[in-house]
Amino acid sequence: MFKDFINFTKNLYDQDAIPLHEPRFIGNEKIYLNDCIDSTFVSSSGKYIEIFEENIAKFTGSKFAIATTNGTSALHISLILSGVERGNEVITQPLTFVATCNAIKYCGANPIFIDVDKETLGLSPKALEKFLKDNTFIRNGDCINKTSGNIIKACVPMHTFGHPCKIDEVKKICDRFHLKVIEDAAESLGSFFKNKHTGTFGELGIMSFNGNKIITAGGGGCILTNDKFLASQAKYLTTTAKVNHQWEYNHDIVGYNYRMPNLNAALLVAQLENISNFLSSKRQLAETYKSYFKNSEITFQIEPKNSKSNYWLNAIFLADKAERDAFLQETNESGLFTRPIWTLMNKLNMFQDAQCGSLENAIWLEQRTVNIPSSVRVL
Ligand SMILES: *Cc1c(COP(=O)(O)O)cnc(C)c1O
Repeated sequence: MFKDFINFTKNLYDQDAIPLHEPRFIGNEKIYLNDCIDSTFVSSSGKYIEIFEENIAKFTGSKFAIATTNGTSALHISLILSGVERGNEVITQPLTFVATCNAIKYCGANPIFIDVDKETLGLSPKALEKFLKDNTFIRNGDCINKTSGNIIKACVPMHTFGHPCKIDEVKKICDRFHLKVIEDAAESLGSFFKNKHTGTFGELGIMSFNGNKIITAGGGGCILTNDKFLASQAKYLTTTAKVNHQWEYNHDIVGYNYRMPNLNAALLVAQLENISNFLSSKRQLAETYKSYFKNSEITFQIEPKNSKSNYWLNAIFLADKAERDAFLQETNESGLFTRPIWTLMNKLNMFQDAQCGSLENAIWLEQRTVNIPSSVRVL
């Protein structure tokens, strides 16, 4: 049934088995790694960490960037810095990778799930505003959930598959309801909304450099912020809350060992040097898929209005769940790694008691969305 698509994709990649997303090391990766090993600075201090932080800040237009062990730890620290405490609540979308919600739980807080827009696959400002209007009131500057009586402290919108959500509207609504915004930009390095890089709209933003992301350090992440105080706190908390001193070991609160090692940073400096190549290759691939699906029953996800997407993972929508399953079955049997979108977070054991808005779009998308091979092609 999907034979033509399978052949088309195999031709695109000229490979027999086609992964969903594999990394490309086509630049200075080995040179910098060797340099790093020769220097003996392979751990949590070294020049590549500083170079990477500087370069990623420049690329995204963020004033500060703090490198971390991964995207999840960047989220954890950002939530702490937003004042999220035990018993608080944090709004996010049900259509996300589990890390977003795990980080909320690490703080002893609980997620509230609000629907996404079909156009962006990210948090819907309309649904967010409706939920906040109907379910909350402000007391002493805090947003109080009428149902639970708890404080809703923050909101974590996510830019799904690299497509920017309507982050400017989300931010405005959150400001009105006294919520801090932490953008989960784990998937959206190189994606811009109204010419501003994703992850730079909220008080804090995070990125991931896991093996399947657009650039990778094996594992890694970073925190973005324009706030000097938050930046210094982020560095301090990720460095075991060590009080700055030339030799003394003083730690004044319980901190975390979340600093990115220099080895990973060396890899990332090289990867980031190639970002414009990666982005244009991905855009070209998306264009190719787009025209392929033009005259088909299957819909291809294009970048939303006012945005430039990195097209990290290309996505298509099948007619219904049965057709989705047939597509997954046939493509995977033929050596094409295609994957369904995540199971909705509110269906997972640990989040099934979470409060939810109406999740109409998320449910629709969960049944139909499939990611198709999206690796950067070496041409
Ligand atoms: C990859 C990812 C993360 C977590 O990143 P890690 O580096 O794997 O910890 C968080 N949120 C989203 C949406 C992701 O895709």
